[in-house]
Amino acid sequence: MTLLELYTEYNRVWVPDPKHVWKSAEIIRDFHLGNSVLDLRLEDGTEYQYKVDLESPLLPHLRNPDILVGENDLTALSYLHEPAVLHNLRVRFVESKIIYTYCGIILVAVNPYKQLHIYGDAVIQAYSGQNMGDMDPHIFAVAEEAYKQMARNRKNQSIIVSGESGAGKTVSARYAMRYFAVVSKSGSKTRVEDKVLASNPITEAIGNAKTTRNYNSSRFGKYTEISFDKQYRIIGANMRTYLLEKSRVVFQAENERNYHIFYQMCACAELPEFQTLRLSSADKFQYTSMSGEIGIEGVDDRRDMEETRKTFSLLGLTDEFQSDVFRVLAAILHLGNVQIKAAGGEHSSVPSSDPHLVVFCDLLHVSAPELCRWLCNRRMVLVMETVVMPVPPERATSARDALAKQVYAKLFDCVIQKINAALKVPGIQHAFVGVLDIYGFETFDTNSFEQFCINYANEKLQQQFNLHVFKLEQEEYMKEDIPWTLIDFYDNQPVIDLIEAKMGILDLLDEECLFPQGTDQNWLQKLYNYLHDNPLFEKPRMSNEAFMIQHFADKVEYQSKGFLEKNRDALYEDLLEIMRASKFEFLANFFHEEAQSIKPTKGFQVKSARPGVKPANKELRTTVGDKFRSSLYLLMETLNATTPHYVRCIKPNDEKLPFEYDSRRVVQQLRACGVLETIHISAQSYPSRWTYIEFYNRYSILMTPMELTVKDKQQACKTAVQRIIQDSNQYKFGRTKIFFRAGQVAYLEKLRLDR
Ligand code: ATP
Ligand code: MG
Repeated sequence: MTLLELYTEYNRVWVPDPKHVWKSAEIIRDFHLGNSVLDLRLEDGTEYQYKVDLESPLLPHLRNPDILVGENDLTALSYLHEPAVLHNLRVRFVESKIIYTYCGIILVAVNPYKQLHIYGDAVIQAYSGQNMGDMDPHIFAVAEEAYKQMARNRKNQSIIVSGESGAGKTVSARYAMRYFAVVSKSGSKTRVEDKVLASNPITEAIGNAKTTRNYNSSRFGKYTEISFDKQYRIIGANMRTYLLEKSRVVFQAENERNYHIFYQMCACAELPEFQTLRLSSADKFQYTSMSGEIGIEGVDDRRDMEETRKTFSLLGLTDEFQSDVFRVLAAILHLGNVQIKAAGGEHSSVPSSDPHLVVFCDLLHVSAPELCRWLCNRRMVLVMETVVMPVPPERATSARDALAKQVYAKLFDCVIQKINAALKVPGIQHAFVGVLDIYGFETFDTNSFEQFCINYANEKLQQQFNLHVFKLEQEEYMKEDIPWTLIDFYDNQPVIDLIEAKMGILDLLDEECLFPQGTDQNWLQKLYNYLHDNPLFEKPRMSNEAFMIQHFADKVEYQSKGFLEKNRDALYEDLLEIMRASKFEFLANFFHEEAQSIKPTKGFQVKSARPGVKPANKELRTTVGDKFRSSLYLLMETLNATTPHYVRCIKPNDEKLPFEYDSRRVVQQLRACGVLETIHISAQSYPSRWTYIEFYNRYSILMTPMELTVKDKQQACKTAVQRIIQDSNQYKFGRTKIFFRAGQVAYLEKLRLDR
């Protein structure tokens, strides 16, 4: 039987549709090779001729038999392709209001944008101890599976949650963590489970912000390892964070906000304990009001502040620590209001009486005259001497903002460290479950260094995923004694090499950053020169300022502007020196281990230091890209040493409307998050797997009387399959299961219906 034989009258297919991506149609005349059209009838009754290219007949995707639609697991579909997946998810989501569906080993979660009653403790109890296949798909089922496998195999686990902004990653990760807290409740007085959960509101206060896509958008990636003891009770946790978006501290786009914590503090400005911070409402501070957006619908910043402080205390972080944190945060807000004025020519000025500068310096115990001086001037190390040069106002403003960003980033790291210390495992960790909440693949109208890093991370995760699926397939074949079959896997190593290998994009970027005269343009030119042969790299036809990478999910154009600066993440050494000299130890400690300094200024040669002159470039600072590459290596090492579980979150519409399903948006994400890739892998091998018993029960109706008399049912199944499906490449007999290629089950279903 060939697939062509299925293009017969009454069978249904999917044809492309601009609005719904795919629409259904019924075949009204059998198709034969040589036909130039396939005659169809659309669901609204109109007839439609699907043009077929005679050279290479490409026929539309066949629709699955209805009995398979709405299944819990998409891989149960006989035809595994994009329209089938899209349709199935839609039927479940829109008609049945079911947000979870499996796609093989992936849990697909479609954001309902509506509070559902499926997360209560009773539901957790219902999932606890159950087998994944026996229960409806759920984030709790994934958490239970991880928990069970940890206990059964004594192996560390991880739950990898991905998806685009607003898709529901953080919510899913939180539910997974709550699941562990509930099922492993020790009843101990230490309430360590509550502490582990308490880490979420704090990291969200300092690392989440309102964006146009998501009112509570995580602006960093997070891997939380939850540690268990021998009895599989939670005993602690540890967090690793990735790439905090620092620029948000000093700049927010229209309708977006700075980090929540700033608004929470401003909302509590009149509290007695905040009096020394000299706060006022958020609209009075440049860093919190530039986008004109201060509040979030449905969010009470004042109440959230109570929550933040409660969780700080729950974690055992002292009032003193909290007040240090608030002091630094308030100082940042005041710094943003420091007025920098033009002072003629290339000079700028800040009076040391600037009220906000005074508060900043008071709060942080640093010298106001020094700060004014080093905002408006800059030390240059020349060949023979060090000179102090004035800087123009724009430059002084960048220095001010760079300081604010740096202090915030240090504070963020410090709080994470403190939380980790509070959650530190006291005894021996027996095993852990890691939960990864990390930004999915991104492509915007303008893509920059941030998208580049994010997409690089997603390439690594996709590879980890591919290899895992590959390994599982291999194991399944071995278990079933199926002769080794080479499966054609898509390996994205070439694109990873393009980014991270020697003389790849990151290497060339770091190299350019070393040059004092390095520019984005020079670097880009090098990319063009060195990488033009790479099929995954492209220079856009219409631009000399961008490059394109063919990622696994999509081709993305990156604008080179700003890459060098962002990768260098230059520090203003003279300003840091002031912070280091602060009498406020909490702050000074942020910078003590920092023996690193700003990269040389453009246009000036740096030579080794003379006695008495602080070298401006004593040791090479690691670049952001380099640090990110290392942290990804470490993450992959960790993930590879665990049993992974995958959750892919899908944002069904851009308006945050409950149960609205925009097929175009969904399909984009399915392509980007590897769900379709998985399906592709399954479809290439043997997507349908039936045990001999299952097969017998459903298809004995197709057996001949002779076959039915055979005692050995397994043998009967084999004989029947060999007779019905002539091409022996379309199936494989395993020890307990029959493996079918795509389309075979649909064919069997058709025969069954014809009976
Ligand atoms: P980002 O990458 O911006 O951090 P995200 O993927 O973490 O995005 P979330 O913050 O988890 O997205 O979800 C965005 C919003 O969607 C939530 O604030 C909530 O309103 C809604 N949401 C997500 N998941 C669910 C769910 N399972 N049930 C109900 N609402 C949900
Ligand atoms: Mg998030």
